[in-house]
Amino acid sequence: MEISTHHNGSTLLFCNQPDDLPNVPALQPLWDFVRRREDLIKSPFFPVLFNFAIYTAFCLPFIALDLLSPWISVLRKYKIQPQASPTPQMVSLCLAQSIYHHIVCIFPVTVAHWYWRPVSLPSIAPEVPALLLQVAVCLLLFDFLSFLWHLLHHKVPWLYKNFHKIHHKHISTFALTTQYASVWELLWLGFFAVVGPMLLRCHPLTEMTFFTANIWLSVEDHSGYDLPWSTHRLVPFGLYGGAPHHDLHHLKFKFNYAPYFTHWDRLFGTLSHAVKPNQVKGIQD
Ligand SMILES: [Zn+2]
Ligand SMILES: [Zn+2]
Repeated sequence: MEISTHHNGSTLLFCNQPDDLPNVPALQPLWDFVRRREDLIKSPFFPVLFNFAIYTAFCLPFIALDLLSPWISVLRKYKIQPQASPTPQMVSLCLAQSIYHHIVCIFPVTVAHWYWRPVSLPSIAPEVPALLLQVAVCLLLFDFLSFLWHLLHHKVPWLYKNFHKIHHKHISTFALTTQYASVWELLWLGFFAVVGPMLLRCHPLTEMTFFTANIWLSVEDHSGYDLPWSTHRLVPFGLYGGAPHHDLHHLKFKFNYAPYFTHWDRLFGTLSHAVKPNQVKGIQD
């Protein structure tokens, strides 16, 4: 079988023999669509734009819920801390800090990464099972490294005070508090996100899928909402903590250091089960 790239960027697979059936990956049309934007993807601005666009897009539905929930009581039953509601000042401060960090911190680092590891776009898309497996491994690795970093920054008072305390400014979280953190914390979390795809030599589409999933899960963690389709409800056996667990971390400080899964906190004895919405008052007593 021969592989050729059409002038419009799409990949053509030619059969040499009648029984040489082309095995086109299911994601090939999507990957061809992405590759037609090669100039954008290979630009040094792409990583920071991708990160910021996805982050704000994922925050927007939760910001809309925050704006509507004071007026629509049915929405408040999904809020983990229904008594708390972010003010416009809190939202704009978090957004301003995020824009500032993307310009002064994330942009220079992603340009350096772009320079040392130039983007190459292979012709063939990854297979779906390989993509899903690698995304799962990257999420587990990110979760483990973040757990260790987080535990260390709570156990060592100097580290907590200088690098992690700012992320705990909000006891009740809302979507834009996700990246309300010190530059030091953002850089380490960024490093933990890129190390998995680098070690596994992930396909760029797998890498983009992982980054997108990782940003979604971190925003969901801080959303302050426990919705019927929240990720922790989709993963069985309580293996995934998600928003209720991370909300409890912001409320109680001493539990739930892993951002997503529950196994490391269970192993270290730092797991605390989340309360149902509207029961937060009880745990504060
Ligand atoms: Zn913390
Ligand atoms: Zn947090």
